[in-house]
Amino acid sequence: MYDIKRIYEAYTIDEAIKLKVENPEAIFIAGGSDVLVKIREGKMAGQELISLQLIDELRGVSLEEDGSLKIEALTSFTEITENDLVKKYCKTLGEAVDTAGGPQLRNIATIGGNICNGAPSADSAPTLFAFDAIIEIKGENGYREIPIKEFYLGIGKVDLKSDELMTAVKIRRESYENYYGHYYKYAMRNAMDIATSTCSINVKFSEGNLVEDIRAAYGVAGPVPVRAYKAEEFLKGKELNEENIRSFSKLALDELKPRDSWRASKDFRTQILYEIAARCLRVILAEHKGGQNA
Ligand SMILES: Cc1cc2nc3c(=O)[nH]c(=O)nc-3n(C[C@H](O)[C@H](O)[C@H](O)COP(=O)(O)OP(=O)(O)OC[C@H]3O[C@@H](n4cnc5c(N)ncnc54)[C@H](O)[C@@H]3O)c2cc1C
Repeated sequence: MYDIKRIYEAYTIDEAIKLKVENPEAIFIAGGSDVLVKIREGKMAGQELISLQLIDELRGVSLEEDGSLKIEALTSFTEITENDLVKKYCKTLGEAVDTAGGPQLRNIATIGGNICNGAPSADSAPTLFAFDAIIEIKGENGYREIPIKEFYLGIGKVDLKSDELMTAVKIRRESYENYYGHYYKYAMRNAMDIATSTCSINVKFSEGNLVEDIRAAYGVAGPVPVRAYKAEEFLKGKELNEENIRSFSKLALDELKPRDSWRASKDFRTQILYEIAARCLRVILAEHKGGQNA
């Protein structure tokens, strides 16, 4: 049984915000794949909901005038993976969300829900960190935008005020253009499993084939997704060879804080995090040699 006190339906973003201001105890529901599970488990029994499902302006992918890729919050994982703009400019994101759950889940799960639930295991999160994504938010006082690294505040906590909803996620042209990327999800089985730990890396090469820029982000390596800034600095200006890949992966561990959980021990996660970063970089190197972009 789903113990839901009341459900409001909004048709526009502004209507959703108005409903939230009038009903501060209510929470937004998008695909419902997190919310409904919690309600059924009794963790959120008697909840009031504001459904975003009927807000058409919250769906779709577009390229803005400045070249930013904009994904509206209600866009599903399947729509993202199958979208031609995503495939062309940020294919790693399409591949990352394609690792979540099974086909039914990916048809209802939204990118907004995945980001706003603040889970360390969210499959979109490390890749969005590796793209330096921007979160677009609207509240009573209009729009604001913040970098994704400032949006994640802790496990299950994101920077949304009581009257605000996330409207879109944006990836700027300079964050994706000429980068090669890869996402690696380690889970105990290949399908229908939440990540044990994840890693997503974007690399830009100089004309001399050295690493010009790199952004490496890890999931389930701390309470929020983590960038390995010191290890990134180490690799800049260097050749992406096996020795440097191994040194990078080892160095990055200093910046990560994996923990023991029922899913895996801290020691096992540390080994996984070392290995999946190296595997991401090897794929990136091979794609660079083959001439395919992220
Ligand atoms: C069987 C199963 C398997 C799963 N496997 C995976 C997996 O492999 N990888 C993975 O990452 N996740 C997985 N999940 C978790 C879940 O499907 C994802 O987190 C999904 O992206 C949530 O999106 P949703 O639209 O269903 O969110 P909802 O459940 O509708 O909402 C989630 C949270 O975000 C808030 N919210 C939603 N949209 C907005 C918005 N626009 N603005 C503000 N707040 C908002 C809601 O209030 C709620 O707190 C799984 C879930 C299930 C049930």
